[in-house]
Amino acid sequence: MQGPVNQKKTTEERSFQGIPVSEGISHGKALLYWQEAEQIPIHKITVADLPQEIGKFETALIATRAELLEIQQTIANAIGSKDASIFDAHLLVVEDRTLIDEVLRKLESDLKNIEHVFDEVTEHYCKTLQAIDDPYLRERVVDIEDVRKRVLRHLLGKQPYRLNALEEPHIIIAHNLSPADTALLNREFVLGFATEAGSKTSHTAIIARSLDIPAIVGLTDIYAEIRADDMVLLDGYAGVLILNPTSETLDRYGKIEEQKEAAAERLELIRDTVSATSDGRHIILSANIEWPAELEEVHHNGAEGVGLYRTEFLFLNRPESPTEEEQYENYRFVAQRAKPHSAIIRSLDAGGDKFVANLNVQEENNPFLGCRAIRFCLQHPQFFKTQLRALLRAAVEGNIRLMYPMISGITELQQANSLLEEAKAELRKEGIAFYENLEVGAMIEIPSAALTAHILAKEVDFFSIGTNDLIQYTVAVDRVNEHIAHLYEPTHPAVIRLIQMIIEAAHNENIWVGVCGEMAGDIHLTPLLLGLGIDELSVGPSLVPRVKKAVQSLNMEICSKLAREALQAQSGANILEKCLAVAQNHYGELLC
Ligand code: PEP
Ligand code: MG
Repeated sequence: MQGPVNQKKTTEERSFQGIPVSEGISHGKALLYWQEAEQIPIHKITVADLPQEIGKFETALIATRAELLEIQQTIANAIGSKDASIFDAHLLVVEDRTLIDEVLRKLESDLKNIEHVFDEVTEHYCKTLQAIDDPYLRERVVDIEDVRKRVLRHLLGKQPYRLNALEEPHIIIAHNLSPADTALLNREFVLGFATEAGSKTSHTAIIARSLDIPAIVGLTDIYAEIRADDMVLLDGYAGVLILNPTSETLDRYGKIEEQKEAAAERLELIRDTVSATSDGRHIILSANIEWPAELEEVHHNGAEGVGLYRTEFLFLNRPESPTEEEQYENYRFVAQRAKPHSAIIRSLDAGGDKFVANLNVQEENNPFLGCRAIRFCLQHPQFFKTQLRALLRAAVEGNIRLMYPMISGITELQQANSLLEEAKAELRKEGIAFYENLEVGAMIEIPSAALTAHILAKEVDFFSIGTNDLIQYTVAVDRVNEHIAHLYEPTHPAVIRLIQMIIEAAHNENIWVGVCGEMAGDIHLTPLLLGLGIDELSVGPSLVPRVKKAVQSLNMEICSKLAREALQAQSGANILEKCLAVAQNHYGELLC
């Protein structure tokens, strides 16, 4: 794929510093993946050019059709679904006679190049459908937009974008990757990725860690520096991308990899031990997952079950939402595989940077402040109840706990709980088995919820602090904006104070409280979270051994002292410094 064309061909080694988001080292050929708006040329044609332009259009439609069929197959394999309808709506667009005829008519009347005519007609088509107040038609706009981009790429003679259908291992260099794109990456052929946009707590970064794909984000302007098939080395530990690595650099990285492997082997030894401080405080250490397939890693790394299952990934990249039956099977599988521990299943958190096309949410100016998560579910009670019914039924087969994302206050929490009761009443009436005493928790990730945690705590069985969002909403820093990533400060005194308030409110009502945001997996901050009184940490599966070792190396007296000092400190930098000193003292070997 072409982006801004880079003419510079150099064989010199050059390094670029970005933000490391997923550990690991990879080395291979670069694949440039460009998604920004295409530059569409415009020029006059003559009547004599018409057959050639029409031929070009037909070829592009045929190539797009073949591309869609291939993707359809890959996605069906990737999500293990037999549902052949995936991408059917897209296929209908390439065969849409009204659209095709309109393009041909305009080509003949305007006598402009086919790329321009196709672009104009499809843009008009999308705008017209968008303006009609019909959810079905609006849904089609998403399909048409996608097909439009694909056809234009073919007309412009560019490679189609088929990240999920690479045939050779590559390191992807992109301006940005959406969580939906990232979810489809094939671990076999994607050695790593580096993007210009993004930050550590974007869902794209979180998925890279789940898929165990080394990744760097925030590499400003990298796209113009790298050419297709350049050799690059990606260091996901330090966030460095090296173009044309020399043999000395490759040797040096070979040694680093050996050291990392040896360190991982040492951590394997503590896999079956309890995650408790040296003075005996047990901190439940569970894992975050996006797909059931990750449960193997959860077990392998010695986690105590699942602390967060992000169910929205079951809804992504498909034309329709999963049925109650499909959801039931999925949650049942998770619950059974999490045994003897529990699985905390979060109700749908679509929105923000996780755009689920099939939900028909209108474009929003501020998606992170928009119709996201529980807000969407409460606006669509039938849809929400389908998920609740599936969860209630699956809970018969294993220890499932339900948790609601993005609760902002008591009214939402009570509404969600009353829909849960409605779902139970329906199942009861229909004579379908379900688990009556399902434990329910609230994610505390909005400052208004943190500040009213003493009220919310009376309505639930547990809290899980979503620090990824709690931080972004507290310091007003978009968690995916690389330009202000330095202001996204987990140790900001306001964040620490809110976490302390949430924990106190939970303990006053005798409920437990965990952290499932990325802060839970950052071992620099483990002593602070323990000192503040946290009961559970839920982290990416691969981070479990390291966090366990950190917990085992600490004692509560040191942690409580650190927390007291942090609550008095005036700046995030100062709090971080204090945390680093404790971490360095107790498990310095884990930090390098
Ligand atoms: C969080 O906000 O910390 C969280 C765990 O949820 P997500 O990252 O999916 O928004
Ligand atoms: Mg969140």
